[in-house]
Amino acid sequence: MRLRSRPDSRPMASAEQPERPLVVPVRAAVARMAPYAAPEDPSVVAARAEIPPDQVIKLDANENPYGPSPEIPETLAGLEVFNRYPDPEQKALRPPVAAYAGVDPDSVLLGNGSDELIDLLCRIYLEPGDEIVDCTPTFGMYTFSADLCGGRRIEVPRTPDWQVDVPAIYAALTSRTKLIFVTAPNNPTGNDLDETAARALAATGRIVVIDEAYVEFAGRPSFARLVAEYPNVVVLRTFSKWAGLAGLRVGYGIFPPGIIEHLWKVKPPFNVNVAAEAAVLATLHDQPRLQVRVAQLIAERARMHAALSAVSRLKVWPSVANYLLVQTDEPTSDRLKDRLAVHGVAVRTYAHPRLRNAVRISVGLPAHTDAVVTAATEWARGEEGA
Ligand code: PMP
Repeated sequence: MRLRSRPDSRPMASAEQPERPLVVPVRAAVARMAPYAAPEDPSVVAARAEIPPDQVIKLDANENPYGPSPEIPETLAGLEVFNRYPDPEQKALRPPVAAYAGVDPDSVLLGNGSDELIDLLCRIYLEPGDEIVDCTPTFGMYTFSADLCGGRRIEVPRTPDWQVDVPAIYAALTSRTKLIFVTAPNNPTGNDLDETAARALAATGRIVVIDEAYVEFAGRPSFARLVAEYPNVVVLRTFSKWAGLAGLRVGYGIFPPGIIEHLWKVKPPFNVNVAAEAAVLATLHDQPRLQVRVAQLIAERARMHAALSAVSRLKVWPSVANYLLVQTDEPTSDRLKDRLAVHGVAVRTYAHPRLRNAVRISVGLPAHTDAVVTAATEWARGEEGA
């Protein structure tokens, strides 16, 4: 597994400058931290399939296989502001993003991906020893960002069909619980959060972060409207998935006034770069085309669900996101992952005890689905080797 830390990037001790022991230790929270486990480098699957890395069918990071709006390359090529810092107040972006989300522009703040907003929320709420509620299995960044602040993650397992366990969350609350993270639809299980549960969580009074990175695929209105009703509810969204802008790093949050005022203070001033800014504006102009692609992905999700459900020994969970969680009847998903790799397909696997036998497969193009189904069928027949 490729990790974010780069041990090979340390400066080399030279003959003139002998290596000396570090006398200043890192903070205890950092010393304890595990690096974030990012998806494996495509070269691993490329080597297994004996293909160049750019031919790997990347279904491991829920990226958009159609790419961004075709207007974006031209928009970026025509930009003449690369020597200027972006607007720290995000004035050009907030009104159209707010219009897209159907909320007040004053409630919107953009981040370097929604990852940055998760980090900032942890930083404004968590003193060392404070707690977050993490509804597992789920997206890993909540724990990562909380750990960095010296926060404690209180794990509240999801029910057998992956629903958020509201009574168990209530039972887990302590005077130190500051944040409750809930992903809707959940990554990697693909199920959604219902509004009754969202409102029950809001009633805890803790800061409830509803992460809607995949809401465009969910066929329901966003919970963004709850932000105007509750002073403690936050909704996070992103341009990485539906709009195909993962590489430009731009997400946003919808926040009540009492929260956003503090985020404005701590946000790095130039967190959304000029290329991302231009790309978001072009994306919002090109919405009808991008929405057609979202509809194609939703249709492809149904096709992949049906085709994989017909493969024996697989359990394919229903999903309202752009990926499927698929469990095998084996103790681990190693053999299925390897069979997919033989066909050049990269998928996500998990260390979580409930998901050792699972893979998460992003919805791709129809040809990608065909490769997945071929590989899964071979796996079910017990085929081994290249
Ligand atoms: N939330 C969830 C649930 C995600 O799956 C992801 C991306 N994997 C993110 C947030 C982060 O998205 P962004 O690219 O906007 O940082």
